[in-house]
Amino acid sequence: LDGDEFFFEFQPVVEPDTGRIQLLEALVRWRHPRLGTISPAAFLNVAEDSGLVLRLDMQGLARLERHFDYWRSLDPQFAEIPVSINISGRHFPNFVMERQFFELLRRPTLHSANIIFEITESVFLDSNPSTAEGLQRLRTAGVQIWLDDFGEGHSSFRYLAHFPVDGIKITESFVRHCHHDEKARVILSALQGLARGLGVRTVVEGVENQQQFDTLRVMGFDALQGYFLSPPLSAADIPALVADRGLACPAKRKRPTR
Ligand code: C2E
Ligand code: MG
Ligand code: MG
Repeated sequence: LDGDEFFFEFQPVVEPDTGRIQLLEALVRWRHPRLGTISPAAFLNVAEDSGLVLRLDMQGLARLERHFDYWRSLDPQFAEIPVSINISGRHFPNFVMERQFFELLRRPTLHSANIIFEITESVFLDSNPSTAEGLQRLRTAGVQIWLDDFGEGHSSFRYLAHFPVDGIKITESFVRHCHHDEKARVILSALQGLARGLGVRTVVEGVENQQQFDTLRVMGFDALQGYFLSPPLSAADIPALVADRGLACPAKRKRPTR
């Protein structure tokens, strides 16, 4: 962290019917001086256990500001693109962190209307009321809160019930067989019905081929993400991607508060 060895790649989240970009997800990587590029799966556990993930994520938000400043200097459309950043559940509840978030989000470039926090249950999200209140304060400031890897663990539904959220990202494990497995499709459409009933948006992750894409598009999910649509790309490749694919209307929150 002190050597500034972490960097982001960005993967687009795409509107199924048009192929336009709804938002970009920032995914961290470690450029290790000896070992080369290391994926987050290899270091996040250590970062979580040591508590360093708090610094990692704050550094990430600050880095986003630099990327957006640069992209906007090339193309004003970048003022309209929401970006999602993965935030460890360890940040909540933590008032010092919350203050730092708010300080960063006040900067004009990171205008909070364009920021989505993706939170996973990999680290236990405390279900005490101050966690939900902290998340709600962020939402009031305009940040969207999404539950990542929805359906992966056993707590997803509890989180959906307890926390104010704007969207769910459905885990790729339901996607792998969706084009030939009726059961997977039944589960996917039940999740979609649930999200629709609660007024939250749905992204399905891990779309790797045409059959999966066609199946999910027909099912009517709000957005899709995966190698079939685009792998994560370097920041330098993003302006060309945006110029090529175009932008969808911003992924607006379905309901302002709940
Ligand atoms: P995630 O947020 O669920 O991110 C999606 C992961 O799936 C990414 O792995 C992405 O590269 C990968 N992926 C994309 N398309 C496909 C596909 O079609 N098939 C398959 N099998 N995988 C696909 P990545 O980049 O290794 O990230 C792993 C996890 O690390 C992320 O999962 C997220 O939970 C966490 N993470 C990433 N960046 C950060 C960060 O800055 N802070 C924190 N706290 N966690 C992060
Ligand atoms: Mg994510
Ligand atoms: Mg995920």
